[in-house]
Amino acid sequence: MEASHVESDLTNILYTKEEIQARVAELAAEIEKDYEGRDVLVVGVLKGAVMIMADLVRAMNKHVSMDWMAVSSYGSGTKSSGVVRILKDLDTDLMGKHVLIVEDIIDSGLTLSWLKTNLESRGPASVEICTLLRKPDAAKVQIDVKYVGYEIPTEFVVGYGLDYDEKYRNLDFIGTLAPHVYS
Ligand code: 5GP
Ligand code: MG
Ligand code: MG
Repeated sequence: MEASHVESDLTNILYTKEEIQARVAELAAEIEKDYEGRDVLVVGVLKGAVMIMADLVRAMNKHVSMDWMAVSSYGSGTKSSGVVRILKDLDTDLMGKHVLIVEDIIDSGLTLSWLKTNLESRGPASVEICTLLRKPDAAKVQIDVKYVGYEIPTEFVVGYGLDYDEKYRNLDFIGTLAPHVYS
């Protein structure tokens, strides 16, 4: 793969930079309104949520605290198993805090379902979820997600934080990978 031909690795663009920026600004406005008068701790899930976190908090005018977690789902290959290991925990005590988890994408929902339960056990005032993308067809568990950027079909997407083999995270748009990339 030639580094200079990243775009030829994609079959189509699902959301452009402009569309993502506009949608993230809408989510930020909604969140600001819902949390009016309350401090919020925004928890980004590394590494995929880096881009949406950065854009989401910059679109807000209120005070927000930010923290990060890294988790890994055990499981064969690319499938999530629901058995989660914490690679990097929060630096923040959640007691009495309003927590907003920020994710790039919810596929099976297993990772986030585990994470929400884990954070809820730490005594926060509330825990809500914001995800840029959700694949409704793939949902294995019922999970209450308050803020969703886009519902997408069950296909593998990259860009705007989302990777394939640690690549494509730096794209400012979201697209689907061409089959030749897999082979
Ligand atoms: P879940 O437990 O919801 O099945 O797993 C969610 C995680 O799987 C996401 O945080 C992401 O790392 C990965 N994932 C799921 N679907 C996609 C996709 O379409 N593209 C990419 N790049 N990662 C995905
Ligand atoms: Mg993620
Ligand atoms: Mg990944």
